[in-house]
Amino acid sequence: MPQDISTSLIHHNYAPPTGYASVPAGVFKGSTVLFPDTATVRSRVKTFGHRDGYSYGLYGTPTTYTLEQRLCTLEGGSHCLLAPSGHAAISIVNLAFLSPGNEVLLPTNVYGPALRSARGLLGSLGISYRCYDPMDAADLRAKIGPQTKLVWVEAPGSITMEFPNLRELVALVKASGALVAIDNTWGAGIAFSPFEMGVDVSIHALTKYPSGGADILMGSVITRNDALHQRLREIYLDLGMGVGANDAELVLRGLPSVKARYEIHDRSARDLASWLSERPSVTRVLHPALKTCPGHENWKAHCSRAAGLFSVLFDPVYEASKIDEFCDSLELFGIGLSWGGPMSLVMPYDMTAIRSAEQGYPGHLVRFSIGLESVEDLRLDLDKAIARVFG
Ligand SMILES: *Cc1c(COP(=O)(O)O)cnc(C)c1O
Repeated sequence: MPQDISTSLIHHNYAPPTGYASVPAGVFKGSTVLFPDTATVRSRVKTFGHRDGYSYGLYGTPTTYTLEQRLCTLEGGSHCLLAPSGHAAISIVNLAFLSPGNEVLLPTNVYGPALRSARGLLGSLGISYRCYDPMDAADLRAKIGPQTKLVWVEAPGSITMEFPNLRELVALVKASGALVAIDNTWGAGIAFSPFEMGVDVSIHALTKYPSGGADILMGSVITRNDALHQRLREIYLDLGMGVGANDAELVLRGLPSVKARYEIHDRSARDLASWLSERPSVTRVLHPALKTCPGHENWKAHCSRAAGLFSVLFDPVYEASKIDEFCDSLELFGIGLSWGGPMSLVMPYDMTAIRSAEQGYPGHLVRFSIGLESVEDLRLDLDKAIARVFG
């Protein structure tokens, strides 16, 4: 019976210890894992780190295995690795598939720290990178060369929220023989199915919606392909990556409500984004579900929902100090990075510093992450701050 993702996540397969049953999966801890006898050690030594048994805490516990399986259910994949952060998940993919002399392509609106890693870590390993315009398939086609081994896609892009034609970009990369990885943090496995788009690997910052608590850092690397997973797992083991049971527990606790929360974030964000687009101080609202956002038609073709994120461009007559004053005047919006938690957040960005002039984002931008507060309370807070700062 096909089930809604919420139903699948709540009624997910879990075998409790004999004689005990409860709704949450158990939290199992241990660096040392005890073997019943030496014969078991000898029979298992070649498969340490594999998922067919337990050998050492770093290589997985019943708690982390359960979380991996549920994340596969969420994103529609077959294999999952848990990383200590979303950024670490990106690095695992890069290090698994790129060698000296290879090139990786990133969208111009890629998540900022991913660009930093491409410049720094990958550069120092002799791996080059180039950025392509995700809204121009011809640009991507022209940039894919014989050295291109991996192409990242992100939908929508960070901060400026352009929604690319994912299917078209992915098909282009696949035709070239390169691998395509998606940063699926925004979609969270709910807005669209990454593997139905044809991607090879999906990474997800569980730090955001799956956790939902603004209290942990974690990432996942998911694939449907056995060989790709083998390669990912090798580098994962070489790097000594793993996650703690308490953090895994928090994500397991957040998952059953991820879709319900996502829908609330979505509804409130669309509501406030539309309202903000009618304020005279605002020149443009960048929310993929609004017609004023580049790639709105792609969002419509690919997605059933949107996350609680959008950006607002203020009239360029307002200087940075005015934008800062606006952010500081808000009482219910925290000023902070990250998103997906209960509290609404704002973050100002100087567009001239992060996008080129031809990308056409003049002035200052404020990125909003809408939390779970009452949308009416948030609207009143915004109204008050706008009246005070912009008149
Ligand atoms: C937050 C985020 C990440 C990184 O996640 P961390 O757990 O903070 O390292 C990666 N990609 C996107 C799109 C994000 O928003």
